[in-house]
Amino acid sequence: MKNRQLAAARAVSAMGGVLLLAGCGERAPEGATVLAASRLYVSPDAPPIDDAAVLIVDGRIAAAGPAKDIPDGGARRIGACDGGTVTAGFQNSHVHFTEAKFADAASKEAPELAAAMTDMLNRFGFTTVVDTASNLANTLVLRDRIEKGEIPGPRILTAGFALYPRNGVPIYLRDLPPDLLEMLSQPASVEEALAEVQANLDGGANATKLFLMTPQGGGHYAFMQPDIALAAADETHRRGLPVLAHPTDIEGIKLAIEAGVDILVHTTIGDGRTAWDMTLIEQMRAKNMAVVPTLKLFRYEMKRMELPERVVEGAASDAVGQVRDYAKAGGQVLFGTDVGYMTDYDPAEEYRLLARALAPMEILASLTTAPAARWKEGEVRGRVLQGQVADLVVLNADPAADAANFANVRCTLRAGNPTYTAPVGVR
Ligand SMILES: [Zn+2]
Repeated sequence: MKNRQLAAARAVSAMGGVLLLAGCGERAPEGATVLAASRLYVSPDAPPIDDAAVLIVDGRIAAAGPAKDIPDGGARRIGACDGGTVTAGFQNSHVHFTEAKFADAASKEAPELAAAMTDMLNRFGFTTVVDTASNLANTLVLRDRIEKGEIPGPRILTAGFALYPRNGVPIYLRDLPPDLLEMLSQPASVEEALAEVQANLDGGANATKLFLMTPQGGGHYAFMQPDIALAAADETHRRGLPVLAHPTDIEGIKLAIEAGVDILVHTTIGDGRTAWDMTLIEQMRAKNMAVVPTLKLFRYEMKRMELPERVVEGAASDAVGQVRDYAKAGGQVLFGTDVGYMTDYDPAEEYRLLARALAPMEILASLTTAPAARWKEGEVRGRVLQGQVADLVVLNADPAADAANFANVRCTLRAGNPTYTAPVGVR
């Protein structure tokens, strides 16, 4: 969403009560599109509406509700998208554009990038994504080409270049190409850290990402100096932007609490000793911290290490428990998968694991209203309401029946235009 669209949506929102007192069959406004829904979830906290419709004008929702109340005469239809379960567009709060298919974004042909974008994100309903670390300049080119309409894709919020501890590139990134490794910032002083954060945010990044402790192999860790972490976070907050951190383990969460981190981009992993106790949860809640579970990632990593299934399941259960306990205490959960790092893009398993911790509507909130609120955009996106941007997902089946249905996407719409339409026969 461009700022212009955001401003327009806010203006419509402010007008509030301009209701279309008309019904099905009556003339739709000029240039309108109508989307029919067998079931419509306006938001996670409202009962669903069956036989519904969404009226879209100029990329925004002009009306949404029972089909009989929506004026649809003369409106354009996106036939392939009609008839499914409609929700607000999804946000994936943990992705990366670091794979070779996204490199050199300025010189790649649009269809090649479009295919990569669809494969990783569009086909799973994502209309907003948070890139939690990448080559800022390249990600900005991707964002720009999407916003110009050259590539169908989600709105990209990016953390750009992350900050690592001094001499602290994590062991799992050592295989990166040397030129990329050289670009990883490992500030040695507060001044250096501030310069890096300012350059990243001035350059167009939307957040700061900190690696507070990083595994170095053999059970050793590198730690970011607390004064460096604090200075980086303060500078980011001064600009009204969030600070993201990769916690690694419970010690890392404590460092994140001290630094004033807003969003933890993973739960923590361990060996059956990683429950988050109530003291820790209360401290996280007091700081209004959000957590991105990335539950499937842990299984993916441990299977790659060829650990026995018993160990993999133990770690998964730990992480599920952390999400459940945090949500139960009122903590905010943001859906995210770490795709781009993880090359298996299908989120169905993430939804199944999340369903062990959250109710289906809590999962919907983690995809829509929670991230919109976290990014201070709750008035303009995250719900299927008049005045909001027409970022929508059409599912083939109701996710309330099975959370894996969140991954069964028929259409993804950004500002009313499809960025993905499932091939006929895949329904
Ligand atoms: Zn990641």
